[in-house]
Amino acid sequence: MDTSAYLRNHIRTVPDWPAPGVQFRDITPLLQDPQVFRVLIDAFVHRYMSRGMRPDVVAGLDARGFILGAVVAYELNVGFVPIRKKGKLPFTTVEETYELEYGSATVELHTDAVKAGDRVLLIDDLIATGGTMMAGKKLLEKLGATVVEGAAIVDLPELGGSGKLRAAGLPLFTLVDFE
Ligand code: IMP
Repeated sequence: MDTSAYLRNHIRTVPDWPAPGVQFRDITPLLQDPQVFRVLIDAFVHRYMSRGMRPDVVAGLDARGFILGAVVAYELNVGFVPIRKKGKLPFTTVEETYELEYGSATVELHTDAVKAGDRVLLIDDLIATGGTMMAGKKLLEKLGATVVEGAAIVDLPELGGSGKLRAAGLPLFTLVDFE
């Protein structure tokens, strides 16, 4: 089976959302069909189950990275930690602010979420400009962890984010490209 083509066929493109001119890639149809959901999760699990690739911790980016990351972590039998938008985490945090097209965003991580030396798999649903994943990488590194790979369902390579992340030394694993 061509997993990439199969998954691509189940991603919905919503034109002009959340703003005119944006083609939003909606991954929710991948989750609601149990057969497709299993193919999706297995694509990640098979990669990271292998010897040498298994992380110590999976970190998920707010919010669709929580859905994927938690299930992948469970299957790998490792812990899951959420990287959240500012103001949501109750305990002490480290934070990282990054630029958006208009304005900026701040993400946070609990200070005890990972230990120095942990090898972390960082997961989100989609890489566009790469700003969100880069912020997550920096947060984890502030606590002394190493992000061994960034994973996402979708890459939008024309926006340059995946290229920037790889140039910054982050290996990436993505399942579907959209131009
Ligand atoms: P980036 O920081 O520019 O790489 O944007 C990636 C973040 O924005 C991820 O957390 C995505 O969930 C979200 N995002 C941006 N565009 C889309 C899209 O078309 N579909 C789903 N999520 C998107």
